[in-house]
Amino acid sequence: MGIVVQKYGGSSVADAEGVKRVAQRIVDAKRAGHDVVVVVSAMGDTTDELIDLAEQVSPLPPPRELDMLLTAGERISMALLAMAVGNLGHEARSFTGSQAGVITDSRHGKAKIIDVTPGRIEAALTQGAIAIVAGFQGVSQDSKDITTLGRGGSDTTAVALAAALRADVCEIYTDVDGVFTADPRIVPTARRRERISYEEMLEMAACGAKVLHLRCVEYARRYDLPIHVRSSFSKMPGTWIADPEAGSEDMEQAIIAGVAHDRSEAKITVVGVPDKVGEAARIFEALADAQINLDMIVQNVSAAATNRTDISFTLPRADGQTAMAALARIKDEVGYDSLLYDDQIGKVSLIGAGMRSHPGVTATFFSALASAAVNIEMISTSEIRISVIVDETQVNDAVTAAHAAFDLEAEQVEAVVYGGTGR
Ligand code: ADP
Ligand code: ASP
Ligand code: MG
Repeated sequence: MGIVVQKYGGSSVADAEGVKRVAQRIVDAKRAGHDVVVVVSAMGDTTDELIDLAEQVSPLPPPRELDMLLTAGERISMALLAMAVGNLGHEARSFTGSQAGVITDSRHGKAKIIDVTPGRIEAALTQGAIAIVAGFQGVSQDSKDITTLGRGGSDTTAVALAAALRADVCEIYTDVDGVFTADPRIVPTARRRERISYEEMLEMAACGAKVLHLRCVEYARRYDLPIHVRSSFSKMPGTWIADPEAGSEDMEQAIIAGVAHDRSEAKITVVGVPDKVGEAARIFEALADAQINLDMIVQNVSAAATNRTDISFTLPRADGQTAMAALARIKDEVGYDSLLYDDQIGKVSLIGAGMRSHPGVTATFFSALASAAVNIEMISTSEIRISVIVDETQVNDAVTAAHAAFDLEAEQVEAVVYGGTGR
């Protein structure tokens, strides 16, 4: 039998009991005859706790040192897991990302994997051992410094390793039974999807469904590698992320794949921008130079009396202060009036490939939000997605209303959330 790559998230290894439970599952896969490679995240909320600690000693921790600190979380869980597997009578060897050959660029906190050279993993497998790899981390090709891949990045480590090892499948074990039509923490009646296409899963992940890291889905699609999302707490069948097989039932797709939400963005408004050629370009150049990824952008029609306009955009909250500083530096050059910053917002997105051929989806979505008294601040669309920005306090109402409007409810069983704090 071939190589299986299994990834276990933080809530699956939150304490010693969890580590032992996961070790048993790993040993079961080994006994079934597979070569097993495991990728593991930091225990429970360790990564958040380490970030809190760093912020207590320095308001803006240097990115190189923050990465060094955070990768310690995964080192703890990988070594404990290897011990627990050893205790069940099988040899397991743990490896840091660097030892496992995860080579990245040098952008601390959001490094991209540029190569995977898993020689030591292959050697361990050849010798009959189980390889346990620290997720979320790598080593920079240029600086040789330790890097991290961004929050939730262990999923991407797992898929990148699975692709490099030519595994048949990458299994992602988490604290819910698969990918649902909405976050089961908000909508308990959400339905588990048996399958979902790469295209729809990419949109769901990009819109904040943190059950999978966005880049892991991009990677899997590029290598045509199926991902199997399952709970580490149950034996339920989970969800397959793969392209629909030609002629299969799921060629007849549901119109809507699901509703996603995201509370990690903030909104900046540049007030009173003179309405002349080149002003928007100057603003967005300054943000690009500061390495900020923007999401939605809206420019209002300029008021005839003043010939000035407002430009609003959303961006990751974590980049809010950097963006405000970059814009403040060009205030005189651009001649805008002021800047507004709002991080009490949330994004709610409706995703489905069936939108392409079904008119009326937008109308149903907006009337569902109106009936739930949700006020829409910004709108953006793609071929298979509609997203709105709402007040953060209205995110749950908006998700619930949209989910109900498209009949996505499961028929009987309520979705189970087995662990995690939802942090
Ligand atoms: P892990 O620690 O295993 O990486 P995460 O917390 O990163 O787990 O991801 C799992 C969580 O993703 C679930 O507990 C759930 O709250 C959340 N989630 C958001 N959207 C969805 C969705 N559509 N389907 C399933 N889970 C979702
Ligand atoms: N431990 C990291 C995080 O909390 C990586 C991961 O869990 O995937 O973001
Ligand atoms: Mg995760």
